[in-house]
Amino acid sequence: MSKTWVYSFSDGNGKDKKLLGGKGANLCELTQTGIRVPPGFVITTEACLGYLEDEKHRLPPSLMSQVTDHLRLLELNTGKKFGDALKPLLLSVRSGSALSMPGMMDTILNLGLNPDTLKGLLVATDNERFCYDVYRRFIQLFGKVALGVPDALFDEEFEKVKERAGVKQDVELSAWDLSDVCTSFLQVVKQFTGKPFPHDPYEQLEIAIKAVFNSWMGKRAIDYRREFKITPDMANGTAVNIVAMVFGNMSNKSATGVGFTRDPGTGENVIFGEYLVNAQGEDVVAGIRTPKPIAAMAHEMPDLFRELMELRNKLESHFKEVQDFEFTIEEGILYCLQTRNGKMNATAMVRTSVEMAEEGLITKEQALLRIKPETLEQLLFPRLNISDDVAPIASGLPASPGGASGIAVFDADRAEKMGREGLKVILVREETKPEDIHGFFASQGILTSRGGKTSHAAVVARGMGKPCVAGAEGIHVDVRLRHALIGKYQITEGDVITIDGSTGAVYLGEVPLIDAEFSSDLATLLSWADAVARLKVMANADIPSDAKRALKFGAMGIGLCRTERMFNDPSRLPIVIDMIIADTKEDRQKALDRLLPIQREDFKNLFTIMAPCPVTIRLLDPPIHEFLPQEQHLVDEIDILRNLRKNLRGMKVLSENVAFMFQHDDVHPIVQTPADPELLDAVILKKETMLNKVRSLHEVNPMLGHRGVRLGLTFPEIYSMQIRAILEAAAECLKNGVDVHPEIMIPQVCTAQELKRVKEWVTDIHKDVESAYRLTINCSFGSMLEVVRACMRAENLAEEAEFFSFGTNDLTQATFSFSREDAENKFLPMYNMNHILQDNPFEVLDVKGVGKLMELAVLWGRATRPGMKVGICGEHGGHPSSIEFCHQIGLTYVSCSGPRVPIARLAAAHAAIHAR
Ligand code: PEP
Ligand code: MG
Repeated sequence: MSKTWVYSFSDGNGKDKKLLGGKGANLCELTQTGIRVPPGFVITTEACLGYLEDEKHRLPPSLMSQVTDHLRLLELNTGKKFGDALKPLLLSVRSGSALSMPGMMDTILNLGLNPDTLKGLLVATDNERFCYDVYRRFIQLFGKVALGVPDALFDEEFEKVKERAGVKQDVELSAWDLSDVCTSFLQVVKQFTGKPFPHDPYEQLEIAIKAVFNSWMGKRAIDYRREFKITPDMANGTAVNIVAMVFGNMSNKSATGVGFTRDPGTGENVIFGEYLVNAQGEDVVAGIRTPKPIAAMAHEMPDLFRELMELRNKLESHFKEVQDFEFTIEEGILYCLQTRNGKMNATAMVRTSVEMAEEGLITKEQALLRIKPETLEQLLFPRLNISDDVAPIASGLPASPGGASGIAVFDADRAEKMGREGLKVILVREETKPEDIHGFFASQGILTSRGGKTSHAAVVARGMGKPCVAGAEGIHVDVRLRHALIGKYQITEGDVITIDGSTGAVYLGEVPLIDAEFSSDLATLLSWADAVARLKVMANADIPSDAKRALKFGAMGIGLCRTERMFNDPSRLPIVIDMIIADTKEDRQKALDRLLPIQREDFKNLFTIMAPCPVTIRLLDPPIHEFLPQEQHLVDEIDILRNLRKNLRGMKVLSENVAFMFQHDDVHPIVQTPADPELLDAVILKKETMLNKVRSLHEVNPMLGHRGVRLGLTFPEIYSMQIRAILEAAAECLKNGVDVHPEIMIPQVCTAQELKRVKEWVTDIHKDVESAYRLTINCSFGSMLEVVRACMRAENLAEEAEFFSFGTNDLTQATFSFSREDAENKFLPMYNMNHILQDNPFEVLDVKGVGKLMELAVLWGRATRPGMKVGICGEHGGHPSSIEFCHQIGLTYVSCSGPRVPIARLAAAHAAIHAR
């Protein structure tokens, strides 16, 4: 028996979209549910693949005979006959693959017309105008789709007839005009193809089936699949739906339209769509005439409107999803021509999810699963409203989502100054250093030409919820001249630019923004998510404003407070520098004594905001040279100052003891210095000391260098100060009745011995503070796992650490030996493009390598300390598929930047539901 290539709508399996395509499967489903659909049948996607794979592009054997058998049934069903000169059956031949690709493949309507069947149609309908209208549509569509005749040739002829008739709209043309159109169109085809238009309906049908199959490999369809990452296992080949024509263009009692069961823009529970009286389907989508809103049908065709509402309700209750459907009314009878799940924006997705669950149409879990966590990004960050005529001038890595416009400024001090003046600025830098942080605060967004998604700029921007495009390599910044070169463009300070941190695009000028909105529907949906999730969702937050924002987004605590951010504040940086350049332990202690009360206040603030949630504070991590200016910068400054010392000319003494030196203009000083020569000497000396320190701290490989716990063990007084500040802050909060749960976390650990040493200091200081304040402080002690050896030794580390947190930024860097600063700008895109690596491992957790280390570390850590709390605080903690993996290996929590907390909450719920 030969393979079944064709299924009638009353027999096909409505669940098998891969075989029948989405449209075909749904038409089967609708027919079998009793919804009025014109009769028809579907040719499978397998037949399409068989045809495309055949060297000579022959239809699979027996396909056409199966089609003919089904045509016979269709004739019985409709009482019409295909190719008949008395009661002709006309067909629509429509594409449809497993995944909806709107408009990407071809469809032919009114197939089966020729001069003979036209006569039959004229007798059967007694409607000349209608018949010629249908015929001219068929010739044009078939000519274009199946014979490759350009649309413009037909349009030209059509316009000529309209002009001759003196009308503007096609509905104004008479039957005679339309008959003329048909004659001209047949001529157009003959001229273009060199052959007469095929009149045999069976030949037309075979050509049309092949044309629809071919459209699967058309440029439009291929581009669409590439763009939306549609792989063959998702959709392979198109089905062909052959359906008896129903006519919306028979008279003013006929109409055609498209509808959504709910508003796809807002999600409101009202029917949404448009229709046209006396028209065929493509008129609505092609915009030939302006359609009316569906609500107008309530007055124009009240009975049919009632039927349409019934159809809408049936569709939703059957598919349990918002439907995007097409309908046609033929002489007062309503038919549903197709239905599919409606595509909606994030606002509508969230609202419809919540409302459909509250209406009892779907369960809360189904409501959660309807929404991809990533789509929430649209609701959490402002987006750019980009029109078609705006093109980016550069692009980099989408490092922190959202859009922002402002004037370009090239150094942090000036960004801060201008920001304070109320100007909107975008900080543009080659790369950012921790000392730029005040510029971040003042800016709407950050653009850098170097660095990856886990670079300092990216991490800090994400924490702040500020858009950031990183590593836009085509941008060359000249801070001195205050301009940047971007390809052929020169951007001077003050020029407005716009960045899109969600796509990495950079635009010249201001692009309008669409505001973010955290709606009450989203809050409801996320509360359902929290109820099913097992993973807790914490935030990476370093300062009070980040912590407040994280709480607003539903963070259940702080999973990572990077204390270096506190050191970078411009008011503290000079003290930190004094601490670094101190030659003796005593001098260092003096600086630390000044820092202690400041840090204590920092922690008190954080604990108070987050109470009663836990706050995990990581002791200082980066190499200390990061707090000092760059070597070349210091060399230049010292040079200038020495020259000044020799000759005070060129200085402008502005007050008793401050002078400025100007280079290019009278507005922007390049050096601010004491006017007094002795004071100037002191400044030079300090800069020289700094320069010596910078040189002595130089490391070839700072990321693998003197940082984290290694630094802490070298300068015990730094960590001791931080530990004391944390515990004293906790004590003061407790005294004030604030319920605090501090956790001290040690970075870059690779051996239990390191933890043991620091733990001894914690224990001593803990006792000290408890006795000084006369109270008990609960404070836990934990380790970051971001070094491969730490994972391998998790069993030992767990003897000292009460909790672990995976720092997957460094762990990914260490596992791959890829620099987290550079790889994304160098070879990673090429690796991804050539499928050497499927994903960017700094964005999507590498489950097979880094993930394996994590899985083992969890197992080994809990072998020593059963039930041990283990989390993740690298950037992957906010990435949905990585969160799913974290759930699978039994982590306790994920921690991510504040604005990603809602995405992580939904992803945690998905992970829990999928695991059932
Ligand atoms: C990490 O390495 O994953 C981490 C959280 O620490 P940082 O990004 O500060 O190095
Ligand atoms: Mg790290």
